[in-house]
Amino acid sequence: MTRAKAIEILDKMKKLFPDAPVTELTNWETDFQLLVAIILSAQMTDKGVNKVTKALFAKYPTPTAMTSADHREIYDLIPSINFAPTKAKYLLGTAKTIVEKYRGQVPQTVAELMILPGVGEKTAKVFLSSFYGYNVGIGSDTHVLRVAKRLGLTQETTPSKVSADLEKIYPKNRWHEVNQYFVLYGRYICTAKAPVPNDKCVFEFCSYCHPGYDKHD
Ligand code: SF4
Repeated sequence: MTRAKAIEILDKMKKLFPDAPVTELTNWETDFQLLVAIILSAQMTDKGVNKVTKALFAKYPTPTAMTSADHREIYDLIPSINFAPTKAKYLLGTAKTIVEKYRGQVPQTVAELMILPGVGEKTAKVFLSSFYGYNVGIGSDTHVLRVAKRLGLTQETTPSKVSADLEKIYPKNRWHEVNQYFVLYGRYICTAKAPVPNDKCVFEFCSYCHPGYDKHD
């Protein structure tokens, strides 16, 4: 696919969600709180995360406040989250590392963020993209993977290789938009379960839904 075609795809997605917030995670006001919400959102819907973060941030609004907790106390506030016991330990470890290593400030580079427990490359890129609008990379979650593959932007299947393909074809100054709009398009239009194509899809050229096409999502 040409870069021009890839940009056309992104522009069309953007038009479909003109007032979309940078993330559908809610309740956060600070960089630390958004990072916590993104850590909790691994293998979990944003809606599910939003149900627990209000109480979590009320009790532990800052890294310093969270370091006063025991991981079991954090767990008690997030029991409905997938992998809650592990994520409670991640949150405590992340808060401690921010306080002890980064003097209470959430770092602003992928490499520094990846030192924090529970923060991988995708989480770091999505956090910097969502909070600062930094174009440091494209984080491939399940929606980005599915949409990029179905639209023919990649033949790869692993998140890192799909991200690499998308980062090659999209200009760097659009990466934060890829993070935002591919997720929305996958969440609401090119969904995993809904039959495709559907009347909201704006990509008539997409061959994924053509009869006889070898679906390999
Ligand atoms: S044609 Fe189907 S697979 Fe392709 S983008 Fe639209 S909904 Fe997704």
